[in-house]
Amino acid sequence: MIKGKYKRKDTCRFCGYNQFVEILDLGWQPLAGTFLKKEEIGKEKFYPLRLYQCLYCNLVQLKDIVPREELFQSFLSSVSMQPHFDELADILFKGFLTKGSFVVEIGSNDGVLLDPLQRRGAGVLGVEPVKHIAKLATKRGIKTINKFFDSKVAKQIGKKADMVVATNVLAHIDDMDDVMAGVNLLLKDKGLLVFEVHYLKDLVDKTQYDTIYHEHLSYYDLNSLTPFLTKHGLEVITVQSIPTHSGSIRVIAQKLGGDYIQAPPIREPKKDWNAFINKVNRSKIDLVSLLKKLVGDGKVIYGYGAAGRANTLLNFCGITTDLVKKIFDESPLRYGHYTPGTHIPVVYPDKDLPDYFIIFAWNYEKEIRNKLKDYKGKFIIPLPEVRVV
Ligand SMILES: [Zn+2]
Repeated sequence: MIKGKYKRKDTCRFCGYNQFVEILDLGWQPLAGTFLKKEEIGKEKFYPLRLYQCLYCNLVQLKDIVPREELFQSFLSSVSMQPHFDELADILFKGFLTKGSFVVEIGSNDGVLLDPLQRRGAGVLGVEPVKHIAKLATKRGIKTINKFFDSKVAKQIGKKADMVVATNVLAHIDDMDDVMAGVNLLLKDKGLLVFEVHYLKDLVDKTQYDTIYHEHLSYYDLNSLTPFLTKHGLEVITVQSIPTHSGSIRVIAQKLGGDYIQAPPIREPKKDWNAFINKVNRSKIDLVSLLKKLVGDGKVIYGYGAAGRANTLLNFCGITTDLVKKIFDESPLRYGHYTPGTHIPVVYPDKDLPDYFIIFAWNYEKEIRNKLKDYKGKFIIPLPEVRVV
């Protein structure tokens, strides 16, 4: 195994304090988003994947930071997410925006949200670091800056915004102080910050250790978030649970002293980390022993859906082709490739069906089972507890 280069962060991403407790060590892992070509097998690099909690502000975070240039620049398939963002555009227009409002989006993808906002009459500007995706947005008629958002970019924009939006992006940013300084600079005095981010409570409650990967640097809850926003001159006006990634929150914040009433402060209960670790280890033991037993009985097992989250699980459980022969996936970014670290071939779905499918994208269990209505075999759902259905 080749060690990759990474930087060890000594201070908390939110509050700057330097004392942490280690919560969970998932071992050395390759980058979850980098599916390998045949000639790359065995050349992938490994990095420590360990989860820590700040002893001052309680932010749960990674401290071993892979340079962002090394990370695969993944993006959500905007096709499946379009209804979600159409709905968000409606909500924002009903409550907060009017024709002519100026909205800037951090990590604007291919314009999946800005397009419906623009069609409803907002002026929009996207900031998107991935070149080919920024190009897709421009093609769609969405003005887009092809950069990582930071305070410098905020200055360059030059025009104050009524709203800054960031969906599924803040948890992946290392220098959050600089990003929030940029947000503050960009927003009008009455401006709003709207963001959606994976929620720590769901990760813990649903044993979603497979959402821990090197790109996912911070694990948000309100205990750590509220003081962080205050530090940057913002206060929460609404928080809402949403189903994205099987558990996220949508937060709307305003500059301190804005027009809206501040949301009552929410203190979340202390997380029981020992119980969480026990559940993680239990699910590993249960899954591996089930797969071994089935293979011992002569059964054939394939995976379904090679999302990045599959790789954390496969590597942590040490599952290779002796247990799971191949994985079906429809994305051209993945089929024809191999899973990093575990080297399971990813293939385009065909008629050769196994006795068991393990559904790695277990948050889409219903959709996948609907798709495979005629399949006569069984499904293995690996999390929150191992189930065969
Ligand atoms: Zn902290």
